[in-house]
Amino acid sequence: MTGHPFTAYPFSAVVGHDDLKLALLLNAVSPAIGGVLVRGEKGTAKSTVVRSLAALLPEVTVVAGCRFSCDPAAPDPSCPDGPHESGLSGRPRPARLAELPVGASEDRVAGSLDLERALTEGVKAFEPGLLAAAHRGVLYVDEVNLLHDHLVDLLLDAAAMGVAHVEREGVSVRHAARFLLVGTMNPEEGELRPQLLDRFGLAVEVRASRDPDERAEVVRRRLAFDADPAGFAAAYAGGERDLARRITAARDRLPGVALPDAALRGITAVCAAFDVEGMRADLVMARTAVALSAWEGRAEVTSGDVRAAARLALPHRRRRDPFDDPGRGLDEERLEQALSEAASESDDGPDDDGPGGGGASGDGSGDGDGSGGGAASQPAQPGAPYRTRLLAPAAVGRGGPAGRRGRTTGESGRTVGARTPGGRLRRLDLPATLAAAAPHQRERGRAGSGLVLRRDDLREAVREGRESNLVLFCVDASGSMAARARMRAVKGAVLSLLLDAYQRRDKVGLVTFRGEDATVALPPTSSVELASGRLARLATGGRTPLAAGLRRAERVLAAERLRDPRRRALLVVVTDGRHTFGPDPVDAARRLAGVASVVVDCEHGPVRLGLAGRLAAALGGTAIRLEELAADHLAAVVRDVRRVA
Ligand SMILES: [Zn+2]
Repeated sequence: MTGHPFTAYPFSAVVGHDDLKLALLLNAVSPAIGGVLVRGEKGTAKSTVVRSLAALLPEVTVVAGCRFSCDPAAPDPSCPDGPHESGLSGRPRPARLAELPVGASEDRVAGSLDLERALTEGVKAFEPGLLAAAHRGVLYVDEVNLLHDHLVDLLLDAAAMGVAHVEREGVSVRHAARFLLVGTMNPEEGELRPQLLDRFGLAVEVRASRDPDERAEVVRRRLAFDADPAGFAAAYAGGERDLARRITAARDRLPGVALPDAALRGITAVCAAFDVEGMRADLVMARTAVALSAWEGRAEVTSGDVRAAARLALPHRRRRDPFDDPGRGLDEERLEQALSEAASESDDGPDDDGPGGGGASGDGSGDGDGSGGGAASQPAQPGAPYRTRLLAPAAVGRGGPAGRRGRTTGESGRTVGARTPGGRLRRLDLPATLAAAAPHQRERGRAGSGLVLRRDDLREAVREGRESNLVLFCVDASGSMAARARMRAVKGAVLSLLLDAYQRRDKVGLVTFRGEDATVALPPTSSVELASGRLARLATGGRTPLAAGLRRAERVLAAERLRDPRRRALLVVVTDGRHTFGPDPVDAARRLAGVASVVVDCEHGPVRLGLAGRLAAALGGTAIRLEELAADHLAAVVRDVRRVA
């Protein structure tokens, strides 16, 4: 993007952030490392550092007029703008940074193929997307944790293969898409699923410096930059040139760097000690160590390179449960132990995971059930989570955000019918299209075996998939619920539902009521970690203002409808149905009648008052007993069968 008025902050002017800078530079040297995930709170200049990287990358030479940035020395044979003649001269341009906005459509990312023209005119009309724009440069995704799963999958696939592939009903286009993938995220806004986390080569945690002098220098430079961006950039031009030259030199050196057996053994020992899944971590660590060696101008990987590579490649790959904090650093002691064991083993042969494997089980066993202390003033700790049955809105939604809960019509999912497309054709339904064309073949003068298709024959598939919902919990924390064992079971149930919401990528919120009022313990968020923390600390006791709880839930839902109108809500009321304070809850419940709701009935003991059932009726929802919440409960199965029938 030459001549752009925007001046990026120079990379060499960034104060601190050593891990982040190193991770980016190593990927610039060796894109095979697989990109960087940058985690950190707001206001830590994550984006500034990432955006400043592109200026350091060597220029690329591209075939003139090719929208896919083919290298004239080795044009992509499948280039949609090709085939290019060999021996073309190209023009150099700076490496690009393509930025993926969080609301981007799949077409915008992967490119779009005009299927109508392909079928009726026989031409492949392909509009390049961001994957093409990022080829031979950087693809930057801010708030990658808020991106739809299928888009993240698509990005990571392209990044891993170096190829973008768009296929629609048998018409396919592929083009080269090799880029350095960088994602940034604020963990407070929700975690990336572990499966996706693992596919970023490196991960770094970014924090603002706690050193006043360093902070002062950050502010000083930022003020100078804002006052005169061009002058500031000029002052750092020398530093930028040096870094750019060093990247080029390291790239040249990279293929010659040796990875001695001892270093490789160190890598595999560390990966085994940290109990990482599969072999990806070992490969990423090896590539990172080699790139670091090249960056430092060495010809051979050292144990220091291995140690540094572990700190960048492993923190997001440790086995952990979803409520664990992936931002937690690496256990340095275990790292050193694994490295020294690998070193002392020297020639001991391939004795797989002797000491390392055994030591790994010590982690995360601290959860126990924590009930040993039993200090009376402590809030009841949640019981162990279990897999819950699926609670979801009964009605089929219309195009909510992609997820795994409520049923919705949309662009993905299984085909449930066919229709004439209203606007541009999205998903061809081939059998329906053929059926529409078949009766008219003779009148259209068909000769031979070729089918004569016309535009108005085209039918698109109607699909039904799953959407992500807002699950708002409204939890009774009053005295009637506060029998300690009971509250443990209730908290365990809500925790299980939260875990389920995490896996289905829902937004969650938590309203509680006790005493004389209700509180929003957690406003709707994608961070299930936050919700589980609030739940564990939730105090209980006092009277039961059920109506107040429902009214508070109503207000939260109304605000959220304005903020995020496409997302449907599911209200989960966890209560025994009693109310001992405030107005009659039935009126409050009726006001919520348009919202999909489930009442989890916590009534206990032989006398069943059926209050929760009455509440569910007023809400227009269903009631299930706490004991029925587990996925393997027989009654749940029976109920599901009945509902489908
Ligand atoms: Zn090309």
